[in-house]
Amino acid sequence: MRRARIPSIMVAWVMTLTVGTACGASDTGSGRGTGPVADVAFKAGTTMDRLHRAGKIRIGTKFDQPGFGLQGADGIPTGFDVEIGKIIATELGIPVGGIEWVESTPKLREEHLETDKVDIVVATYTINAERLEHVDFAGPYYVAGQQIMTRKSDNSITGPETFRIGAKKVCSSIGSTPAKSITTYLKDQATQLILFDVYTKCADALEAGQVDAVTTDNVILTGFVAQHPEDFKLVGARFTTEPYGIGLKKGDDTFRAFINGVLEKIAKDGRYAKAWTGTAGKYDTNMPEAPAVNRY
Ligand code: GLU
Repeated sequence: MRRARIPSIMVAWVMTLTVGTACGASDTGSGRGTGPVADVAFKAGTTMDRLHRAGKIRIGTKFDQPGFGLQGADGIPTGFDVEIGKIIATELGIPVGGIEWVESTPKLREEHLETDKVDIVVATYTINAERLEHVDFAGPYYVAGQQIMTRKSDNSITGPETFRIGAKKVCSSIGSTPAKSITTYLKDQATQLILFDVYTKCADALEAGQVDAVTTDNVILTGFVAQHPEDFKLVGARFTTEPYGIGLKKGDDTFRAFINGVLEKIAKDGRYAKAWTGTAGKYDTNMPEAPAVNRY
């Protein structure tokens, strides 16, 4: 299958190898780093100090989303979220080789932060009130919107309203905001909404004719369409607003303020634009303006 995923045992082996060969402060990991590691020191007792001293950070991201977080053959993900994660590591004085990338699917993001499986989540992660009960967010650093993807040959779906008629099946990811938002457009949720843990499975189901559409954020769908322009297309306008934040453990206000500071800095010094151009910008050449962070 074209979008088949790399077996996790192989990924674990490659990642151990990669982390194990990391070689000090100037290592930028496979030549895809963000520049020299910052010469920094942090106040004792802060998360920044703990991570900096360890020289390691665990970052939850997506492994199946072209442009934002897509696992390569070497097991290491690439994408805009990945670049943002690398910049945060760099600002903590952690070499790129000191990053452990963890796949955080929509249903697992809060759990990964709450059970200390990751230090931060950078994963097309919409800031909303429900999630803020469990985690905190730095950012936003990008604003997306929900859209619909169909098979290229299908002209029967024009937007979310088409699902009100019934019959058409739409796929999304468990625990995502699009899976919830689309329910208001469905005539019969039980038969029309198909959910998987990752969007790649939705794209496979769409191609196989098991569903009629996939819904999630426009930038995720744009990545799938760019990879398979002969199979898929986007239809209709965006119908939600999805501000992406960097998830972190609830109550760690000092760490949140630090990450917000990094986001403000990179919006001005060119690193935000560079991160976009080399990743999602290959599919969407409109350079986004970094949104103002919300220091709540
Ligand atoms: N941004 C939306 C969310 O956080 C959809 C994309 C995703 O699932 O990562 O749920």
